[in-house]
Amino acid sequence: MTKRSVLSKKLWKIGAKEFNTQYFDFNKEGDLIIKEGHNIYNVRYMAEKFGTSLEILMPFVIEERLEDFLDLVKDLSKKVGYNGKFFYHYPMKVNQNKEVVMALVGEGAHLETSSYNDLWLVKKMLEQETFNPNIRILCSGPKTDKYISLIDDLQHRGVKIFPLIEGPNELKFLQYSKYDVGIRLDMPIKAISHWNKPIDRFGFSTKEIIAMGSFKNLKILHYHIGSQIEKLSDVIGPVKYALDVYFKIKEKNPSLDTLDIGGGMPIPYTRSKSYPVDKLMERILKLLKHESEKRGLPMPNLICEWGRYIVAPAQITVFKVIDTKAISNKKSPAKKWYVIDGSFMNDLLDTWAIGQKWAISPANNKNDAELNDVWLAGSSCDSDDIYTGVHGTVTLPDFDSGNGEKMYVVVYDTGAYQDPLAAHHCMLSSPLKLIVENGHIVVARKRETADEVGKNFGW
Ligand SMILES: *Cc1c(COP(=O)(O)O)cnc(C)c1O
Repeated sequence: MTKRSVLSKKLWKIGAKEFNTQYFDFNKEGDLIIKEGHNIYNVRYMAEKFGTSLEILMPFVIEERLEDFLDLVKDLSKKVGYNGKFFYHYPMKVNQNKEVVMALVGEGAHLETSSYNDLWLVKKMLEQETFNPNIRILCSGPKTDKYISLIDDLQHRGVKIFPLIEGPNELKFLQYSKYDVGIRLDMPIKAISHWNKPIDRFGFSTKEIIAMGSFKNLKILHYHIGSQIEKLSDVIGPVKYALDVYFKIKEKNPSLDTLDIGGGMPIPYTRSKSYPVDKLMERILKLLKHESEKRGLPMPNLICEWGRYIVAPAQITVFKVIDTKAISNKKSPAKKWYVIDGSFMNDLLDTWAIGQKWAISPANNKNDAELNDVWLAGSSCDSDDIYTGVHGTVTLPDFDSGNGEKMYVVVYDTGAYQDPLAAHHCMLSSPLKLIVENGHIVVARKRETADEVGKNFGW
């Protein structure tokens, strides 16, 4: 057990814009609060009132982040003299929750779908007349017959929709489409990112694309090398490479006017600094300008698909500590388990899948002077359902399971990927989802009953 003085704001860098925690603070009682302008939400209060496990989604964070980002691109374009058009496309697979997508679309985001079912959501938006006709849709993922016919259907209805061709079979269907299409390049330059594998199956090689010659309506050259790209230079190298391919194929495809650089902008999950978005964006825009001017050709329009970057900080997940157990193994850096009433394997599945690290803080009891280095254990029966912290332990206030006092912990930046990946190991219910916005707290998704979870299994 480590004794430390009262935790300050230093705890997981709460209140720091560079770590996207400017929306959080601790009040005098040591409770975590969320700040939306003058509106204050007390996390402990919400945990007590609605129960845990609990997800708190903050659409205002999404709106603010996208607005800031679009303003930044506008300002930087002016500053560096980039005169192409910029389109932000939100990759829906990052988090398809309606409140997330609607917040983004409301701020001017375009969309990118990964499957027929994603695109079906777009169709649903269209039918509900919440659809802004200026929205542009990119379609990634393998194009099944169903997917292609839905693309077709929406094109006929006048939606600006651009299938991105990823394989030979799609090429047959789409190369001579009368509507605009894009093509995906399999980027040969590698980046440090979990998702950037030495060998993958996405897109066509440069050679293949050049050999394709001319398309009826090729508009977009696209690539995506991975998410959470750790080094700035790993983003820039591929942009430069892709520009070279872009100008080569433009000779035979004069309709080509847009470069789509995919996703990759990282989130500082572990609260260590990474490259700032303004620095990266400035480098990209300068490169577009420079490479175009060098060739005396118009600057390509730019698409980027940074979903994680915009939405991850917009959700936190709150668990209650329901028990503690001593870890007697002397080799363990942690001396206690804190057992939580949710599951890393179910609710934060990347913890298990890719060793995702998270910033974690208490939601209450923050004034307790006594801190423990602990490991967290989920409520499933699985030995993999644990979280051991960024540096080997998680530091949290002391929890005495005997005294009846409740203790809540908060996992930050859970807005990207964790909802769509969620599972039901041990039939545990998913967290209840709250939306906090404009001073209101709304239950968006109730906690599933045993009956509802059972239905997934035919009961
Ligand atoms: C997954 C994916 C993205 C999302 O990238 P993030 O940086 O994680 O938001 C973007 N584009 C494509 C094509 C993807 O497959």
